[in-house]
Amino acid sequence: MKSIFCDVLVVGGGGGGLRAAIAAREENPQLKVILATKGQLGKSGVTALACSDRMAFHATLKHTQPQKEDSWKYHAADIYEIGGRVSDGNLAEVLAKNAEDAFDYLDKLGVPFVKKNGIPDQFITDGSDYPRACYTGPKTAVHIEEALVNEIRKHDIEIIENCMAGKIIVNASQVTGAILIDTKSAVPLDQAVTICETGKIILAAGGAGKAYLYNVFPRGAAGDAYALAYDAGAELVNMEFIQIGIASVKTKLNCSGSAMRAVPRIINSNNEEFLDKYFPAGTSLEEIYNCVFQKGASWPVTYEHKTHIIDIAVYKEMLKGNKVYLDYSKNPKGFIFDNLSEAWKQRYQQEMTINLGEKSRQETPLNRLREINSATISWLKERGIDLEAGEKIEIAACIQHFQGGVKIDEKGQTKITGLYAVGECAGGQHGANRPGGNALLDSQVFGKIAGIDAARSCSLISKQPVNEREVKDFFEQLKIMEQNNNTNQNKLGNIGANYIRKKLQKIMHGAASIVRTDEGLKKALAEIYLLKNTPMAVDDNGYTFALETKYLICAAEMILKAAILRDESRGPHLRFNSYEDPEPIARKDPDWQKYIVISRGDGEMILETRVPQKLSFEIVGD
Ligand SMILES: Cc1cc2nc3c(=O)[nH]c(=O)nc-3n(C[C@H](O)[C@H](O)[C@H](O)COP(=O)(O)OP(=O)(O)OC[C@H]3O[C@@H](n4cnc5c(N)ncnc54)[C@H](O)[C@@H]3O)c2cc1C
Repeated sequence: MKSIFCDVLVVGGGGGGLRAAIAAREENPQLKVILATKGQLGKSGVTALACSDRMAFHATLKHTQPQKEDSWKYHAADIYEIGGRVSDGNLAEVLAKNAEDAFDYLDKLGVPFVKKNGIPDQFITDGSDYPRACYTGPKTAVHIEEALVNEIRKHDIEIIENCMAGKIIVNASQVTGAILIDTKSAVPLDQAVTICETGKIILAAGGAGKAYLYNVFPRGAAGDAYALAYDAGAELVNMEFIQIGIASVKTKLNCSGSAMRAVPRIINSNNEEFLDKYFPAGTSLEEIYNCVFQKGASWPVTYEHKTHIIDIAVYKEMLKGNKVYLDYSKNPKGFIFDNLSEAWKQRYQQEMTINLGEKSRQETPLNRLREINSATISWLKERGIDLEAGEKIEIAACIQHFQGGVKIDEKGQTKITGLYAVGECAGGQHGANRPGGNALLDSQVFGKIAGIDAARSCSLISKQPVNEREVKDFFEQLKIMEQNNNTNQNKLGNIGANYIRKKLQKIMHGAASIVRTDEGLKKALAEIYLLKNTPMAVDDNGYTFALETKYLICAAEMILKAAILRDESRGPHLRFNSYEDPEPIARKDPDWQKYIVISRGDGEMILETRVPQKLSFEIVGD
């Protein structure tokens, strides 16, 4: 086994990891900083690869409404309110206060934010009272990643690619190192493992999208950070709150914004328009189509908005075995454009980039999409969906973002000395929901803060020896999984990692996606326990894939347990008394204005509820 040393180890090469590594090194250029990432730098993780209609970076700038000295307070209040009052108010304040600095940094690095007369253009996203979303277009995150990758290459920071942090080594609640594994499956295990001695680890390893059958995450998003931090003794929070929304199965395009505002037919495999079966009896088609239009502005499923009926409808149709499509070739039954509310018609007019005339607009959803976002039509065509030739978009309720994660304080620190978490793997800064654009912001704000704090406190920590027993045990575990590969699987009951992962994804889609019931969640948890206790074999995907699958099981257990405990609906967590019930159980305020904190007890997961920290101010007179 090789051994290396560094002052600060950053795990992950997305927006959060890059920002943290640069900040640490800028703070103290004497330090040895290593960034280890599972894939290739700039080509793995969500920041490097995600795209949507128009990706948002949320920031309160000087010109941002309401243009007051303390405009950031309005931003912080939005984060706290849309978070369902289950985020930490102090963390919302940190995010909002530091947003301008985070934006300026990226702007200076050359991220091509759209500007009008030299002023960054901002639009309004779900969960915000004012337009704060800066953007470059569909590739805002990609541009941020590119700029940060260019910047990190100017610093003396060692980048280790194709490298998975497999374990954090801790001694008396203090980080002493990490076990790093080469992800190239051809490398034999003995040569693949490296011990990294360090007193500071910044986790920036993203979310656990691969816990679900339908998700818009790239490969590798396996919730490693959740399992690593849990194993190390850190706390996790808000794990039941996962952003889920309708997206294209083939292209992973989020079908928000114009995709919904064009009001397509939403049909199943039998060409049946099914929405009206899921709305309360007596709801008129006019109300339903106004709701479809509105879905464009409230993309993720949320209890607080009745557009969740559309997510429920799509999800239930899928669980019946149907495929579900958006069809732009003809109007939904009984659709009349003029029956949209005046507010929606005005919004539509504002978004028009071409005018095909009233007759065309009335005729088909495709014409409407041409008028308000023809780029989407070309984008989809390039990826094999030709709406102009009458092709449909197959959709599903897809997982997009984990609002919860490893619980942090204002410095990005966890409960374990020397362990930080930033970006999507961190928790407490968002609540049940988040305003669109705050995830990218969060990666930059806490990335910088954690990097600086880790660098500053390096000298404060006396170096601890790596616990060799822990290293040995971990290595043995990997060896057993590898040996399982060579044994007779049928006879011994060892099951390949990919088979286990697929089972897990199906279980989570069925029980812990849009419709959650006590019975369904508990049954799913029992099934997850069975998977946990199944001897897993390394298959053709290699041992890091098998290890990821173990981490996914850990993340699934957290999600299910928290979802069982929260017997109310809030944000994307829709709890039903029974699967057949059309209405979710109501939000229980103020009783459930608490978050669920998860930690490792003596051999079992411990869940406790706590009241989050409130905002330090009130906005009066608005
Ligand atoms: C389709 C889509 C659209 C989105 N739109 C928006 C939007 O408009 N606005 C917004 O604010 N947010 C949006 N988000 C969310 C946002 O993009 C992400 O939350 C954010 O980019 C995450 O950044 P990160 O650095 O935390 O993680 P990532 O960018 O996912 O990076 C994680 C990194 O960790 C590495 N890694 C993982 N495990 C390990 C390990 N064990 N060892 C070493 N390396 C590891 C990965 O390879 C990767 O490099 C969107 C997400 C998606 C999927």
